Amino acid sequence: MSNRIAFNPQDRFVVSIGNTLIVTTRTGDTFGHDITGHTADGAFHFTGAKAAFNTVDRFVTTMGTKLIVTTQNGDVFGHEMAGRDIGVPFKFAGSKAAFNAVDRFVVTVGNTLIVITQNGDVFGHDVSGHTIGVPFKFDGSKAAFNAVDRFVVTIGNKLIVTTQNGDVFGHDVSGRTIGPPFKFTGSRMAFNPEDRFVVTVGNTMIVTTQSGAAFGADVTGRDIGPIFRLNPDLSIRLHLKVWTNPTIPIQTMITRMQDVYGTAGIGVVVASRQDLTGANIHTALRDLDVVPTCPAGQLTGEQIQLFNNRDNVGEFDVVAHFVRSTSPVLNGCASHPDNVFGAAITQIASVWTMAHEIGHVLGLRHIAGENTNCPSSIPNCCSTPNFSRLMTGCSTSNIVGTPVFAQSEIDTIRSSSRTRPS
Ligand SMILES: [Zn+2]
Repeated sequence: MSNRIAFNPQDRFVVSIGNTLIVTTRTGDTFGHDITGHTADGAFHFTGAKAAFNTVDRFVTTMGTKLIVTTQNGDVFGHEMAGRDIGVPFKFAGSKAAFNAVDRFVVTVGNTLIVITQNGDVFGHDVSGHTIGVPFKFDGSKAAFNAVDRFVVTIGNKLIVTTQNGDVFGHDVSGRTIGPPFKFTGSRMAFNPEDRFVVTVGNTMIVTTQSGAAFGADVTGRDIGPIFRLNPDLSIRLHLKVWTNPTIPIQTMITRMQDVYGTAGIGVVVASRQDLTGANIHTALRDLDVVPTCPAGQLTGEQIQLFNNRDNVGEFDVVAHFVRSTSPVLNGCASHPDNVFGAAITQIASVWTMAHEIGHVLGLRHIAGENTNCPSSIPNCCSTPNFSRLMTGCSTSNIVGTPVFAQSEIDTIRSSSRTRPS
């Protein structure tokens, strides 16, 4: 199933509850995508009531498990969301909200519904159960009144305003006061004309585009982290077989791998995970004999035995065997038999080792330009290393920041038989 997000012309509002991104449509059908780490799953269709399909519906937001729909005349309706089901609509008692023509953005912070007007005035309504409290005006700064302001979302008690040129500003909301504006450091967000919706899931800010491609960045304090592709169009199916747990948690290696492969539009799907740490068979394989420098297709008897532990691994799947060590000592080794694709990763692996070794499995070699003066007896002396690249031959342990692929490398791994449509 396609994992494109909010690309249909009839998609109307995008919000989130918990780790689920929610897309409402003009027909009232509602779709969801569960977000796990830095990856969005394919769409599912919510059961239950239709929501937000009336032409008078104007703003949609969420509060806890409630989907809240405000209308042009100020009536406010809600649906309780339970898992993948939408409850029947109810009308909130109490005040009307967001019915003035100048009202421009509606968001929530805690139990407060916040309405921002074109001139930057900010009004609130405390929501209690199914009742909207009387409106109050926030003290402090105005917010989101510039013509270039494009989207407003919230994370915790922060109002976040994105602008047409990608600058992102914030205001801390404290009680009934809007703090002074500050500018986020880090990545610029949502400045492309094709960007369509902005939403937050946890501490991640997500931008969806007209094509259905979606991008995210984690927000930490007043900084926006690197942008990653949330829903790659291709993916590899990865099987994890754990003979010895590495020092760096496997989940960390997976997330880093997703970050760098995401830049190539390739997702990393963990298809299975097998715990072999307690297995008392093949204990010799935990300290794996390999052919020095791991040339393609050249294997020791132990490597052949290791990859024979195949279980769920399908024909074009990729397997990562986590062993204690190799002899000679390496972070990892990408040699594998012809009939099963994979690599061995050792306990001393860096956060990038798995991504690097699977890069070899997908057809990549070490980058050119390193080791220019290395004698053959010391192939990794690395006089001119490039630690901005995942496929450095000078040890991924030295990589700083998130490494990149060259376009030629992206072309190679996207055309690999191990890479398939998501
Ligand atoms: Zn390598």
